[in-house]
Amino acid sequence: MSSKSTEQKSSDHGFNSILSRFEPVIGLEVHCQLKTESKLFCGCKTNFGAMANQNTCPVCLGLPGVLPVLNHEAVEYAIRMALAVGAIIRERSVFARKQYFYPDLPKGYQLTQYDLPYCENGSLTLDNGRKITIQRIHMEEDAGKNIHGDNASYVDLNRAGIPLLEIVSAPEIKSPAEAADYLKKLRAIARYLDISDGNLEEGSFRCDANVSLRPVGSKTLGTRTEIKNLNSFRNVEKAITYEILRQADVLESGDKVKQVTLQFDAAIGRTLVMRSKEDSPDYRYFPDPDLGALLINEARVQNVRANILELPEQKVQRFQDTFSIPEADARQLTEEKELAAFFEDVVQKVDGAVAPKIVANWMLSEYLREFNARQWHFDKPFVSSERFARLLKLLGEGTISGKIAKAVFEDMAASGSDPDSIIEAKGLVQISDSAAIKAVVDQVIAAHPEQVAQYLSGKQKVYGFLVGQVMKISAGRFNPNLLNECLKEALHGKS
Ligand SMILES: [Zn+2]
Repeated sequence: MSSKSTEQKSSDHGFNSILSRFEPVIGLEVHCQLKTESKLFCGCKTNFGAMANQNTCPVCLGLPGVLPVLNHEAVEYAIRMALAVGAIIRERSVFARKQYFYPDLPKGYQLTQYDLPYCENGSLTLDNGRKITIQRIHMEEDAGKNIHGDNASYVDLNRAGIPLLEIVSAPEIKSPAEAADYLKKLRAIARYLDISDGNLEEGSFRCDANVSLRPVGSKTLGTRTEIKNLNSFRNVEKAITYEILRQADVLESGDKVKQVTLQFDAAIGRTLVMRSKEDSPDYRYFPDPDLGALLINEARVQNVRANILELPEQKVQRFQDTFSIPEADARQLTEEKELAAFFEDVVQKVDGAVAPKIVANWMLSEYLREFNARQWHFDKPFVSSERFARLLKLLGEGTISGKIAKAVFEDMAASGSDPDSIIEAKGLVQISDSAAIKAVVDQVIAAHPEQVAQYLSGKQKVYGFLVGQVMKISAGRFNPNLLNECLKEALHGKS
């Protein structure tokens, strides 16, 4: 065992011991980028990876004398999210100017919703059954990006004005694992609603975490720190865990936790101070005079509601009911909507030749293993649902054994070929000819009299050895059920 895993073990132990003395209180603020065609207040494109400053205009550059115009596609997406988490939508909400000076914000203010967000008071249920309150969701525009080169710094304003939803949870999350689960669920909902690509690497789904500790049993909240811009589920868990350990250390040494803004350095696995409370800015919010109030009437809400497709929770339930698969499998299959769609597609195409439970097992083991190992993407599947279904059908019909099916699938993944060609080229068709099987069974029995005697005297374990010998000669192609039948018959014929 490596020293690393020992270290891991002892730190896990330390973490659990801290949880026996302190209760972590965690709140998350998620920034979810909406995948609208154009920006929130102008017609500029929103595509990722465009040349720097290509997607800009006088409005999002903040040039004098321009007027913002609200993008109603973004509003529709925002309503979808509010409905999906059961939030209350305000009929009248207001955009405010959040004033601060920064190179990537040439206007000097960001348009966001402040005291009157468009929606409040939703919730999300975690895998462990705990319900986390979503205090508010508001719409806002993203800022640009500073790029620091060797001898100069640059500003790219392509992101400036891109529509975001800021989704704020109540401080009700109790562990790093719950935080990661909450984020995964929220991201899945956004992707099911088709309002965000939820791409963590490209920054279209990122989060700030507020973390505080209080002695177990206490009702008073401790001083919190805020970790900014976490952009992977792994880093969220790691950063919060680190911060809990750090704060516990401070508290147990008799010091006070300082209210600071932190960033997480994933390379060294630590949080570092960005700024303290003393230098936290005063944003001087006020309603934007150029934008009227946002009015969302009931008819509009009903119209959006009517067009919301099945959400992850509903799919989990339907998969269990329709396909008789366990809840854990249904959850895993529905984490990504494309995976769920692929599964349903395959179930339909095997057309009863294979039980949905078997399809699910194959998807969650063989398929996902290859998918992850080869870094496939749902947009460009290397194994189509037709070919995957065909393979499972060949298995279901007994043309190939389970063992061979796995080998054929690996080959399909590596070569991109279809299962029939691979099976034909390699001569892998399962042999269900009893006479051929019996001949080999007899041969094996004759070659191993000692093991046969042991088996007949009651040593069950020897049976597996004999099966193995027969399979070896058949190169794994004998139908396993028939093989068992023939072998047992031959052995018991001996007694
Ligand atoms: Zn623009």
